[in-house]
This record gives sequence, C-alpha cells and structure tokens, in this order.
Amino acid sequence: MSIQESIKIVPQGDVAVVEFDLVGEKVNKFSTPVMTRLKEVLEELKKSSYKAVIFKSNKPKIFIAGADIEEIKSMTTKEQFEAAVKGGQEIMNMVEDLQIPTIASVNGACMGGGCEFIMSCDYRIASEDSSTKIGLPEIQLGILPGFGGTQRMPRMIGLQAALDIILAGKAVNAKKALKIGLVDKVVHPNLLDEQAMKWAKEIIAGGAKKRRKKFAAKGLVNKVLEGVGRGIVFKKAREGVIKATKGHYPAPLEALAVIQKTYGMSDREAGMRIEREGFCKLGVTDISKNLISVFYLTEMVKKQTGVTGVQVKPKDVKAIGILGAGTMGGGIAYVAADKGIQVRMKDLSSDALGKGLKHASDLWMKLLKRKSIDKYQFQQKMDMVSVSTDYSGFKNLDVVVEAIVEDMGIKQKVIGECAGQMRPDAIIATNTSSLSVTEMSKGHPRPEYFAGMHFFNPVNKMPLVEVIRGEKTSDETIATIFELTKRMGKMPVVVKDGPGFLVNRLLLPYMGEAAFLMQEGMSIEAVDKAYVKEFGMPMGPFELMDEVGLDVCIKVLKIFKKSFGDRIELAPLMEQLGSSGRLGKKNGKGFYQYSSDGKRGDVDQTVYAALGLGAATNPYDSKECIERGVFAMINECSLALLEDHIVETPHEVDLAMIMGTGFPPFRGGLLRYADSVGTQYVADQLATYAVSRKAARLKPATPLTNLAKANTKFYK
Ligand code: NAD
Repeated sequence: MSIQESIKIVPQGDVAVVEFDLVGEKVNKFSTPVMTRLKEVLEELKKSSYKAVIFKSNKPKIFIAGADIEEIKSMTTKEQFEAAVKGGQEIMNMVEDLQIPTIASVNGACMGGGCEFIMSCDYRIASEDSSTKIGLPEIQLGILPGFGGTQRMPRMIGLQAALDIILAGKAVNAKKALKIGLVDKVVHPNLLDEQAMKWAKEIIAGGAKKRRKKFAAKGLVNKVLEGVGRGIVFKKAREGVIKATKGHYPAPLEALAVIQKTYGMSDREAGMRIEREGFCKLGVTDISKNLISVFYLTEMVKKQTGVTGVQVKPKDVKAIGILGAGTMGGGIAYVAADKGIQVRMKDLSSDALGKGLKHASDLWMKLLKRKSIDKYQFQQKMDMVSVSTDYSGFKNLDVVVEAIVEDMGIKQKVIGECAGQMRPDAIIATNTSSLSVTEMSKGHPRPEYFAGMHFFNPVNKMPLVEVIRGEKTSDETIATIFELTKRMGKMPVVVKDGPGFLVNRLLLPYMGEAAFLMQEGMSIEAVDKAYVKEFGMPMGPFELMDEVGLDVCIKVLKIFKKSFGDRIELAPLMEQLGSSGRLGKKNGKGFYQYSSDGKRGDVDQTVYAALGLGAATNPYDSKECIERGVFAMINECSLALLEDHIVETPHEVDLAMIMGTGFPPFRGGLLRYADSVGTQYVADQLATYAVSRKAARLKPATPLTNLAKANTKFYK
C-alpha cells in the first residue's frame, strides 16, 4: 500500500500529475521497490489518454535525491550491478519513450538518478530556491552515472559542460542549470506548480509535441566537435582528471572512456550497454566501497547530536564572540559570518583586529571576484562581523571561541575574565591545539559551560572540528558546540580531552617518523613523493611539517614525550632543527624553499648539511617509508581508541582523519585501511621495523597485538 502511495497519478484534466512522495522517508530515492512502482505508473500512463505528464515531488526541497545508496552498498557482484543498472536504464528509456510530452518540475535536490530521470523527460522547469541542486555526484562514490546519465547529459548540454559535471561529481544551482541548458525554465518556488501546469497546457495547445530524440540528433555543435576538436576535449579532460586524482580514482577515467566511446552514437542500446559495463567494473571495486563508507560517515554526523545515550537539546546560538583575531580567529570569524552567524571579535589592538577582518574580507573578495556572491552579499557578510578591544557586547553572546596565544596561564586568566563579562549560561570554547581542556576549564567559574572547539588551519578549507569534552563539560555544552560546528558547515567529531586530542596525536608520530627516515638517509623528495603519489596523501610529511611550523611540531612532540614516554622519540635532527631558525613556511625557511608570497618551491638542499647530514642515499623503498609512517599512526590509534577511548568508534577516527588531514578518502580512512591490509600484517611489520631499525617507538602496542592475535579488525 505505502509504495503505491509513494508515486501517485493525480489527474488534472488532460494532464497527469505524477507525485513522488516516498512514504516513511525524508527524501525521495530510487530504491528497487520505488523503481518497480515507477514502472507500473509508466505502464499506466502508456495506456492512458492523458495528453501530457508533469512529474513533481511533494517533499519540501527535495525532488529525487538519487539511487538508494544502501542498495549499492549491499551489492558485491557484477551480476547484481548489471541487473540493477539495466533495470534503471530501461525505466529511464520508458520515460523517454512515452508518447505524450513529459515535464519534470524540480523543487530541490535532484541528484544522480533524479537528474538522469529529468533528462529522460522532454521538458524541465525548476524552482529558483537555493535548495535546487541538479547534478551527477556518482563519481564521488567511485561509480559513474548508470541510468543513462553518461549518454543523455553530453547530448543535452554539450560535451564540455557535461564532462565538467560528470567528472567532478558536481551539482549546479537552478540559475546555472538554466544557463547550460540542463533545465528550460526557472521560476519562483511559489509559482512552480502553476507554471508547470501552464506550460503543460501550452504544450498541449501547441499539438502536444515530444522533443526531437537526442540520440539521433547531430546538431552543428556535434559536427564541429567531431574529429580533432573532440579529441582535444577528451585529451584535456583526461589530463585534468589525472592531475586532480593523481591516478588514484578510477571512476572519472572510466566515465570519460564511456563518454568517449559513446558520444555521438545513434544506437541508444549500444551506448547504454557500454555505460552499464563501465558501472559494473567500478561498482565491485574496494575504492567504491570505501568511498561509499566515507559518504556514510558524513551522513552519520548529520543525524548525531554529539551526545550518546541521552537526548539533549542544543542551545540556540545567534551570536558568537571570538577572542584573538589572528590566523585562527580571522578564519573562524569568516566561516561563522559566512553562514549567517553574528560575530563579535576581540583582540588587544586595533591593528590585530584589522588583520583578522582583512583575513575574512579577502576570502569574501575572492568569492566576489569569482561572482559566487554579489556586492550586496559581500557587504552583508562583512556587516556580520563587529570588532572591539574590550568586552562590550559580550553580554549578548551565546558562545565565545577563544583563539589567543597558546599559553595555559594566559588562557585561564582571559577565560575567567571573559566569563565574568558574559551571561552565566553562555559557553566558552577553546581552540587550543595542545593544552588540556580540563586544566584550562579551571579558569572558568562554571566549567560545565566550557569545552574545546579545535579548528584546523586554514579554517576556511579544513572541514574538521574536534569538539573536546573536558571532565566537567556538560552534555548541553557539547551538543551546542556540535550543532554550531555543523551550522558553520564543518564536520564535528567529539573527542575526549588528552594530549593532541585525536588528530594531532596520530599525526605527530607520522611526522616524527619522517624525520627518522631522513636521519637514516632518505631524501625529503623520496619520502614526500611516496606518500603523495603512491599512497595518496594531499601532502607529504615534510611539506606538512613546514605548513604546521617546525617549532610547533617540536614543541608538541616534546609535550607528547612527557605524556607518553618512550613511545614518542624525537629524531636528533628534530632537536637540531629547533635551533636552526627554520620555522617552515611562516618564515620562508624549512625543508622546502618558499617564495616571498609563500609559494612552496623545491626542497632546500642546504637543509641536509645544516642538520649535519650527508647527501641522501635513499636506503629504503617507498613501501617501508609509507608503512613506517602510516603504521605508526595505526599503532598510536589503537591506544587512543581502544585504551584511552579518545573517541568511541573507528568511524569517528576515519572521519576525523579524512576531514582533518586529507587521509585519502579512497582508502576509506585510517582504520578501514588498517583492516584492509590486516591488523596482523600491521603488527608484524611494526615489530620487524622496531628490530631492524632499532626503533622501540615502532613496537606494536598491546591493543593492536590483541586485535592481531584474535585475528580481528578495528571495524567489527
Ligand atoms: P595568532 O598568534 O595568529 O593569533 C593570536 C591572536 O590573539 C593575536 O592577534 C593576539 O593579539 C591575540 N591575543 C593575545 N592575547 C589576547 C587577549 N588577552 N585577548 C584577545 N586577543 C588576544 O595565533 P593562532 O595561530 O591564531 O592560534 C590561536 C590559537 O589557536 C592557539 O591556541 C593555537 O594553539 C590554536 N590553533 C592554531 C592553529 C594554527 O595552525 N595556527 C591550528 C589550530 C589551533
């Protein structure tokens, strides 16, 4: 019964209005039962005497979100994919082949299968509401559009525009969709139904014409593009994909190959078969499974409150304060104000405040130049940020984020001062990267209203925020900071207080290991190349150390050594680095050379001699370089997760590592990667390196050896 109700034909005179409203779900999606029902509806339409059809959704801000990812996830064999994709293609063909004109009336998210569906219709009208997003995101799940998307989109909007969308897994808003011809009309959301019906009646009055079949069409543009021109487009697209993915993601290359083989083909079935083959090839890969699991990790956060076991309502946050307008403060002001949250920023001097404001305004200026926002929006965003050198206005703030100098004494003092100027129920969250939140909360008269909110640098780019629970932090405070993080467009992961919290605790041993590799004769280039080109990290450990600041790395490693003892070792060259005046990117002197505008150049070859090292001899292969660094992270993670319970689940580790460090998503995250190579293998290799390289720090930790002995994984 319910599935019948999910897609209904509502007659309106000569026009059949087909309404999608999947019962019991927030979104419309193409699951197997929905597709079966759609087929029935199409059969009914085929036999009917209607003169036109309008397809619409009754869900607010959602047209059709796409295929049911749960089903894709559960499929493991080529045969399963073949059957599902073939079924979907046939239904889209049925839509295309209906004898009466079809109009898709799009009122929100129209993704993947939803987009393929509207492309099978004759006409498309969309609401100009900001929720309208039309696109083909399949590539991001390691697959390709399989319901005819690779066939219809290039024919509909042209090869280049289609490649831009398909190869990046992009979606466009209504305005852009109109511009590129993905929809024919855009109207105010309130007028969508009325205008769709008006259009249907006009089409009927005009003889109820179908559109010319695109598969047979060979317009002028197609002809021009044929031959050399088209070859160049494909060559450039391929180069672009390889540059962007470093060859780690097969899906965009496969999609490109499918389009190249089929573009301009007039035989619809042959094209669909090639698309299907491409889809099946990708669907069974581990990479696709890993990317789907990353998708689930991000979906998981959307549903969470940051507190488990009890229901807690986050406080309403209208305005926030930021203490410190430096690198982090300016970035935090930008992301908050950008999402419509009022910001009051305080620093010690007007000069410092000016720098913080400039940081934010420079970022908006870039958007203005790219025409992503207009002048009016630019001004609106700027007006969201006010500044002050005193606490005026702090009484009205719901949350203050502290981002001043990394010094426990100063922070505690300033936090106490600030709390005295705020309402008793207002929250203060520290952005500290290495100090104890519990210890810092002693500066706050009501520590239950105090937590950590650890953003990563650069704030506008890095999606992760670690929400840190101090010993006395209340559930309500956690829920409020968690929700605020999401509103800022960031990904929150709740972590327990502890040295380095989660991400830095895992990253530091990885960076530290690179220093040992260099000490033992590896070149900076060889190590960074292994991580980036082979493993897929966004930057190598030496590049990363330069970014973070060598002084900061050394300081944090020393803090860790105090807390964790022998497990943390500092390569002698790190000690020497400390007194070498090399701070990394910030003073233009690190492992790499930097231009005056901060652009990274080649490795600074003088660094070896400056650290008392001879020329690099590269004694190890890239496998050892990668394993020593990545397995060191896994080792530390086994303790952080299973012994210290810094986070509760492997899911949170993987999400945090992907969002906070750019750990390659195609590997599914640090622990999914550990499971894929096997905990036994990781433990054995670490034990081998610990002996062969005389590196006690690499000895497998007890929780990891326990997993290995029991032949189990991090993910149960
Ligand atoms: P920064 O030096 O760029 O900025 C600090 C700002 O705080 C300065 O403008 C300073 O004038 C101001 N300030 C100092 N005392 C103040 C006070 N009493 N009241 C108001 N303002 C005051 O530092 P940053 O890099 O932005 O770091 C700030 C905090 O964020 C630190 O706790 C740091 O550990 C943390 N953090 C930094 C990074 C990073 O990569 N820079 C990353 C994550 C977290």
